[in-house]
Amino acid sequence: MAQGKPSGRDGLGARECAMFAAASDGIVLTDLQGAILDANPAFCSMTGYSHDELLGKNPRLIKSDRHDAEFYRRMWQALVRERRWQGEIWDRRRNGELFARWLTIDAVLDERGSPAHYVGVFSELCVAHRKDAEVERAVHIDPLTGLPNRLLLRDRLRQAMLLGRRAGHKVALLHLDLDGFKALNERYGHAFGDRLLAAVAERLRTALRSTDTAAREGGDELLFLLPETAAASDAGLVARKLLELLVEPFQLEASRDVRVSASIGIVMYPDDAEDIDELLAHAEAAMQRAKGAGRNRYHFYSRSLQARASQELELEAELRRALEQEQFLLYYQPQVDARRGQLTGVEALVRWNHPRQGVLPPARFLKVAEDVGLIVPLGEWVVRTACRQARRWRDQGLPPLRVAVNLAAAQFDDLRLVDRVAGWLIESGVDPRQFEVEITEGSAMRSPERTVERLMELKAIGVRVAIDDFGTGYSSLGYLKRFPVDTLKVDRTFLRDVPDDEENATLCAAVIGLARSLGMSVIAEGVETAAQVEFLREKECDELQGFLFSRPVPPDELARLARTRTTLLPEGLAPARSKTPARQRRGASIPPRSAPARTTSPGISSRRKDR
Ligand code: C2E
Ligand code: MG
Ligand code: MG
Repeated sequence: MAQGKPSGRDGLGARECAMFAAASDGIVLTDLQGAILDANPAFCSMTGYSHDELLGKNPRLIKSDRHDAEFYRRMWQALVRERRWQGEIWDRRRNGELFARWLTIDAVLDERGSPAHYVGVFSELCVAHRKDAEVERAVHIDPLTGLPNRLLLRDRLRQAMLLGRRAGHKVALLHLDLDGFKALNERYGHAFGDRLLAAVAERLRTALRSTDTAAREGGDELLFLLPETAAASDAGLVARKLLELLVEPFQLEASRDVRVSASIGIVMYPDDAEDIDELLAHAEAAMQRAKGAGRNRYHFYSRSLQARASQELELEAELRRALEQEQFLLYYQPQVDARRGQLTGVEALVRWNHPRQGVLPPARFLKVAEDVGLIVPLGEWVVRTACRQARRWRDQGLPPLRVAVNLAAAQFDDLRLVDRVAGWLIESGVDPRQFEVEITEGSAMRSPERTVERLMELKAIGVRVAIDDFGTGYSSLGYLKRFPVDTLKVDRTFLRDVPDDEENATLCAAVIGLARSLGMSVIAEGVETAAQVEFLREKECDELQGFLFSRPVPPDELARLARTRTTLLPEGLAPARSKTPARQRRGASIPPRSAPARTTSPGISSRRKDR
């Protein structure tokens, strides 16, 4: 204790001093006017004030506005008359937080029996003290939902972790967040939101066992503690049950049904974290992933997940830099006519020239680029660069080549797409009929009506359209007929072991037949063997693309191939003789090689005038 300051501990023995210091209850000693003479460490940490800050001050310092003047008047009255007061009291910490304690104040008497000091003991509220169960509720129960609040949940979680460690079982914690709750709140008002929350809580608690705890974390977030869980999959079952319980709409007003879904993150103790804060944080992170993955689902936190998440973050930052610094490249893979092996077009395939890792294939970065919204600017770079490259080849005197680019689904959602493509075609002076966009069957079918509309717009500026990876996306034939498509690209999985694999051979033939009957031309992707070529020729496939002819190559290499090779057929594979050469069927859109390339198509100029 500081020298010279009045001390209430004078006269206490060493044992009492030690007890004072070690007590878990907060203890404060004042003179008769209420000036603080001493306070123990528990009192300091309970209030957030240091020992020095408290000395000499009046306990009013921690007074909350929860009690009226009458409350304090009675307290003093009792102290004077009975030399003791006890009761529940709400005080305020240094950081503004309110806290409730059971306070006992006793007068300490001198030798003559007159009060010399007051000593106040602040202990945790315990049921034995309580005349009024409302205090317990106020401290531990969320008034809106009637569920335990985060305080009580932490308490139970701590206990569950202890027991789990001893008994060797796992503890699961689920963090549930309602999807789109904010919008509902804004639309129907907060009173409605409150009632909805209460109804959700009421319904969801039926999924739990009596030993489980559902708690309100705050806002529209609920926590579920499953203290005895054999395996993570059991927690998954509970999560599924919670989601299923939400399927049925809520009827809060006679005329209004409301549907809500939720995203849930699941964390397991001790597998995923060892302390409470970490567990709570990981459960929330897993919930965020569930949201990111499309909502109305649950997601497990796992340490490997965490590692992947931080890798993805790093990749995202690198990708942004790569876009700024133009670290991307386009390689071009030849497409050849099936009969003679002549180069008819190329597909532009993006590569990342990574400063440390060298040239990376799209599988290493496209998914993340899509997830973080970089696919649109990257895709735009691809289209622009491919247009410019087509122009450069023409300027170098190469025969006209059809250039195809892949469009991601998000680019397809982008309303500016068609105008941009038209703009770059005009800028580079490339004939739109020599330009093809590929959209995978999967993204075309994601929202077929919009696909029809967007493809019509693309057709209106004169570009060609191909459906990529055909056969993998469960197209409805009805839509396929309505899509204004020039070409189907048979996915390379259908070519595996063809013709030996009979099932693949049958499917492959069927796809070619289908395209033919819809008036489209067909390109087979992933051609690697002469036997596949023979088979595809027999089925009247128009064009081929695959390693057998060439891998994707840089633009100069492609120019060299175009100049020096009249056919890309490998040695030993003769050109096929045919009554109807494939090029004639697709020929309508491929200008004869001798024809001068046109700078713009009527499609583009009329469209641009319209705008
Ligand atoms: P895709 O559009 O179906 O492109 C064909 C892929 O098959 C290319 O892989 C190509 O290298 C590979 N391939 C071609 N012939 C053969 C073969 O004979 N055998 C085998 N095993 N593979 C062959 P790549 O370049 O790795 O591209 C993969 C996918 O990434 C593309 O599939 C496309 O969906 C996507 N992609 C590539 N570039 C772009 C782009 O600029 N934008 C978008 N949105 N997606 C792109
Ligand atoms: Mg493609
Ligand atoms: Mg493909």
